[in-house]
Amino acid sequence: MFPDLSMPGVDLVLPDFSWLRDNAERVEACVLTHGHEDHVGALPFLLRDLRFPIYGSALTLGLARNRIEEAGLLGRTQLIPVADGERRWIGPFDVEFIPVAHSVPHGFAIAIHTPQGTILHSGDWKIDLTPVDGRRTDLGRIGAIATTEGIRLLLADSTNAEEPGYTVSEREVGGALRRLFGENRRQRVIVACFASHLHRIQEIADAAIEHGRVLATLGRSMAKNVTLGRQLGLLQIPDTSLVDIERIGDFPPERVCVISTGSQGEPMSALALMAAGENRFVKLGSGDTVIISAHPIPGNEHSVSQVIDGIHRLGADVVHSGLAPVHVSGHAKQGEIKTLLSVAHPEYFIPVHGEFRHLTHHSRLAMEMGVPDDHVLLCEDGDVVELTDAGLDFAGEVPAGYLYVDGIVGDVGQGVLRDRRVLAEEGVVVVVVTVAARTGEIVAGPEIITRGWVYAPEAESLIEEACKVIAVSLEEAAAKGATDFDTLRRHVRQAAARFVHERTRRRPMIVPVVMEV
Ligand SMILES: [Zn+2]
Ligand SMILES: [Zn+2]
Repeated sequence: MFPDLSMPGVDLVLPDFSWLRDNAERVEACVLTHGHEDHVGALPFLLRDLRFPIYGSALTLGLARNRIEEAGLLGRTQLIPVADGERRWIGPFDVEFIPVAHSVPHGFAIAIHTPQGTILHSGDWKIDLTPVDGRRTDLGRIGAIATTEGIRLLLADSTNAEEPGYTVSEREVGGALRRLFGENRRQRVIVACFASHLHRIQEIADAAIEHGRVLATLGRSMAKNVTLGRQLGLLQIPDTSLVDIERIGDFPPERVCVISTGSQGEPMSALALMAAGENRFVKLGSGDTVIISAHPIPGNEHSVSQVIDGIHRLGADVVHSGLAPVHVSGHAKQGEIKTLLSVAHPEYFIPVHGEFRHLTHHSRLAMEMGVPDDHVLLCEDGDVVELTDAGLDFAGEVPAGYLYVDGIVGDVGQGVLRDRRVLAEEGVVVVVVTVAARTGEIVAGPEIITRGWVYAPEAESLIEEACKVIAVSLEEAAAKGATDFDTLRRHVRQAAARFVHERTRRRPMIVPVVMEV
């Protein structure tokens, strides 16, 4: 998962691997449906604890490989490429890789043929009847399995289960981009999109080359993925059309197209730096048009909006998905979801991949499509389900929390996150006091140091008053014979917290520091 605003300072969120660690010898392999960051990003962390081979399409493995290599863990795995439609034994599992369309090329649905029947996992998918690479979701194969052996259990992507209708074909974006390049003939054009969206990058490249422009990539992952895509033959960009970003100044602006990362407004990304006027290679001005060919992931709306503001302030123009059809979703909407349910005709159904509300809507769609109510299981992370002769049912729970990764510290835990939220919202009050060890009498202080509660230089009298109140509380405690550390600290904390709340209605973090002499 990506961290949100309730996780200050957290770089990324991983699933709790403890169950996998405890069952390491039972892990045969990892099967990847596709190469998106939220599907492969945790592998370098899991590979620290476990060794296992990884199966996926060549592109998926290429995208995952970058991360594993950076972590120096390639030696702990074997990357095994599989082709469209391939069927393989992986340990005791008979696994089939079925092509699906998505917003990164070469995704798979996975059919696992077991003695309890066939289990189909959709992966992230949609139905695009005119995909950029011509590789359609193989509904024919899914239908063939359904009508021969039958599909016992379907697990499917719920992301767009609330959206009626059908997702628009990726090809429509290509048309919109071509129109925009036509309308902005005299401008330099910068397009931001996901670095893994090679189909989108192809459409941008085609539109730019058609309008006589050269292409330059900006952002580390964009450069890497364009190289990978061209190596695998998934991206057709002639050498003569690619120039180094440092050389774009050699061309007139109307002959240049920059393909950049940062479409989610990520703070240090190429696009965010451009919007702040701090990008080394691209200085934006009135001669530029920036196309944001993506839709903000929930939680990123504000960052994207700030980036758009920044670009406008520099005098450049911005086109985003709210103004022109420069983006389409990679996930099936209700029409496609119903099509899959109809073709797969599963005996049991579990909605996966989405927030709880998406899972709920997806469950309803399955029931609407004829899956009996008691054959639909709405599961949450950690639920164990068992498929037996008797059917599908819950069979306990395993630990499935989150690990909050912060730099190289590793998991910072819920306690640290709670502290960070209090510090961010309420600030901190440190009370330092020195007492005599034997009597508990105050020798020095109390002194208050605060950040984020009140601005100390302007609140001198309030702070003095607080010190007095705390001193009184300590004297009372000492009079009653309290001399031990913990009791004194508790008195300091209670007195300070009560005073701060009564006088300012705030609840900052109170840190009592009691020293003994
Ligand atoms: Zn995906
Ligand atoms: Zn996904």
